[in-house]
Amino acid sequence: MASNLEVKDYIPMPRRRVWHSTLGNCEGFIYSSSGFPLFILGPQWIYFLGFTLCFLCIIFLFIISAQHLMTPELSIFTWISYILFVISFLYTGLADPGIQFPISMSQQDILKHFTDRKFCRVCEVLKEEGSLHCIECDLCIREKKFHSLIFGKCIGKNIYVWYKITRVFGMMTCCGILVSIAYAMIIH
Ligand SMILES: [Zn+2]
Ligand SMILES: [Zn+2]
Repeated sequence: MASNLEVKDYIPMPRRRVWHSTLGNCEGFIYSSSGFPLFILGPQWIYFLGFTLCFLCIIFLFIISAQHLMTPELSIFTWISYILFVISFLYTGLADPGIQFPISMSQQDILKHFTDRKFCRVCEVLKEEGSLHCIECDLCIREKKFHSLIFGKCIGKNIYVWYKITRVFGMMTCCGILVSIAYAMIIH
């Protein structure tokens, strides 16, 4: 079957944004000297911006409001958790999720691989184990877990650990606030 196929049978899937094809629907900014983007925003970056402002501001206001209820130890715990939450949240939203960058393949290579299930016709790459093409991002993402609306992009190999760290620090910050309120209610 495969031997009857020729390069002319190969129909690449069109990208929605061909002028910026290597990053699909994502946006890169601040490029390194080797031309690699240091920060990458997902297609729904507006959600990320909105959630950043909501989460970070609301939690900040909660900590400030509960400050007078906190013991010095709880205050230090909550502020450190919050700062680490902010750092990991921003890193998760801004770092490369694990994009499998398209490489230019020769016609022979395309002919050799295009019937392969691992070959992505949009990105023209041989997908690594666990790589999945995301329709929203329009890219192949290494070890893609899911596409997150909060971060406006995929959670893949490079940022999955950071995503989990963000959740842990977020919960620790909320615990600090709740324990302070509960402690103040018991004392009074
Ligand atoms: Zn792909
Ligand atoms: Zn995605």
